[in-house]
Amino acid sequence: FLNGRTALVTGSTSGIGLAIAKALAAAGAQVAINGLGSAEQIEHAIVGVNAAGSGGARHFGADLRDANAIEAMMAELANWSRGGVDLLVNNAGIQHAVPLHEMPVAKWNDIIAINLSSAFHTMRLAMPAMAQRGFGRVINIASVHGLVASKDKAPYVASKFGIVGMSKVAALEYAAQGSRDSGGLTVNCICPGWVETPLIEPQIEARMHGGSRDDGVRALLAEKQPSLRMSLPEEIASLAVFLCRREAHNITGTAMPVDGGWTAQ
Ligand code: NAD
Repeated sequence: FLNGRTALVTGSTSGIGLAIAKALAAAGAQVAINGLGSAEQIEHAIVGVNAAGSGGARHFGADLRDANAIEAMMAELANWSRGGVDLLVNNAGIQHAVPLHEMPVAKWNDIIAINLSSAFHTMRLAMPAMAQRGFGRVINIASVHGLVASKDKAPYVASKFGIVGMSKVAALEYAAQGSRDSGGLTVNCICPGWVETPLIEPQIEARMHGGSRDDGVRALLAEKQPSLRMSLPEEIASLAVFLCRREAHNITGTAMPVDGGWTAQ
């Protein structure tokens, strides 16, 4: 159902972003991949997305800490997609967990730039063309940490509360664009709890206390996630694909937890 649509998924060389890129390609979209990594990792992502869909995926290498690089990428994308992407998934994110007074200033700046400001830039540059076409989907991968806090994550929690708030503003500004038939222009956040990706490995290791990785995972889940199960990246991707459907035209301004009950407590 996404034939003829183009998508940008930031941070799609790994984890949740790569799963979303594959799922959108499988649904018919032409996908622009973005993210850091070795040449092999980037090639692996392109091959994977092409295998999931009908080919034509391309990697755009902008470092999302750099607003000028994002502007250049969005200009290139406008050419590549003949007018701008229809589906924008702001997924790139980093974590660094230490107490607030120990947080390096450079980490604060990077986390706010990658997890929050990059979405501001892609949205301001992509959404006007979506509005002209009467269709668009912005899906921001926030976190349960956009809804509740945990200690040792000051910049991460600040960035995720920020992206939830900014998404609601954009949802309101664009709510009346398009129609039921065109599918409208919606902006939503997905708020995962623990998802099995490289991002959380340091936090698993910190809880192993000389035991196995499984012990670390169990300890991590026991702290906050009542289902005691991690999500898989593919499960987050399924929800993102659903939000792209025409029938989802009235789902906008939401922040949807996929968290095994974490935020129900
Ligand atoms: P990941 O580490 O597997 O992937 C992160 C991606 O972001 C990679 O493609 C990486 O190259 C890219 N990236 C990092 N810095 C970048 C930069 N400067 N410029 C461009 N790209 C950059 O992590 P993940 O777990 O898949 O995380 C994806 C998103 O999901 C993040 O926003 C994260 O906060 C969020 N999230 C993850 C979890 C979890 O448990 N894994 C839970 C909630 C939310």
